[in-house]
Amino acid sequence: MTADIGDGGWHVGAQELRAYAGGGLVAPAVWSVDAHLAGCAVCRAALAGVVDPERVEAGWERLDAELDAPRAGWFEGLLVRAGVPDHTARLLAATPGLRGSWLGAVAGVLVMCVAVVTAAGSPGGSPTLFLALAPLLPLLGVALSYGPALDPTYEIAVVAPLHGFRLLMIRTVAVLGVGVALNGLATLALPGYGLSALAWLLPALALTGAGLALTPRLGPVVAPSVVGGGWVALLLVAKAVRESGGAPLAPFTAAGQGVCAVVAVAGAGVLFLLRDRFDRSAAVR
Ligand SMILES: [Zn+2]
Repeated sequence: MTADIGDGGWHVGAQELRAYAGGGLVAPAVWSVDAHLAGCAVCRAALAGVVDPERVEAGWERLDAELDAPRAGWFEGLLVRAGVPDHTARLLAATPGLRGSWLGAVAGVLVMCVAVVTAAGSPGGSPTLFLALAPLLPLLGVALSYGPALDPTYEIAVVAPLHGFRLLMIRTVAVLGVGVALNGLATLALPGYGLSALAWLLPALALTGAGLALTPRLGPVVAPSVVGGGWVALLLVAKAVRESGGAPLAPFTAAGQGVCAVVAVAGAGVLFLLRDRFDRSAAVR
């Protein structure tokens, strides 16, 4: 897909540039093209040649429409005041996993979940429903934040190439941080369970880490789906083999938490090792 230029370097192939310009290139291939475009004037010039000017115009309009939303406006301003560089703030403000509609949905799910757990009420035991659901929310938020179908900043790829591993990490950390904070607030609403209500944290990190680590191989939709499905299956198995009704499920015991920590660290390690796959042509082939 890429054209070798003989000196060991490469340029983005014409066919791939057209796909990129047309929005037909999916992650992680699009990230590698972004990363290359950011550093290669030759390919940027070639891109300008294949991009339909009307599409660039439409891209800007759609992007402006997204970014002019009031929520994005104050959020972006807040980020800039906090010392986040302009362009990063813009991209973060348009990250689906950080937008009001998504955060509102997460808050709604958490409130319902806390209400159900509180109504069922067995303090001293384990708020199983909450612990099962909470780790899935950050995974979903991060998954929502890449992929052209869901991402308005995808338009930025046409008008101002910038994705790459660094952007993925900036967004992931931001989305994960906000997700963890919301889960944390929900945990505070379940004081009767004490520290056991925090048993979602390590699974949340493990699921997000595993989802991202599998993305270069399985793609941005299948990877989080497999990980989320695996989590639900694991909980069902744990429920089936549980010895007594009041005991915590296996992932929420000390041993299970240890396994989650190992998976989270392993996921981060794999992601680090595969970082080039998000930035370079290796992912394209
Ligand atoms: Zn090039």
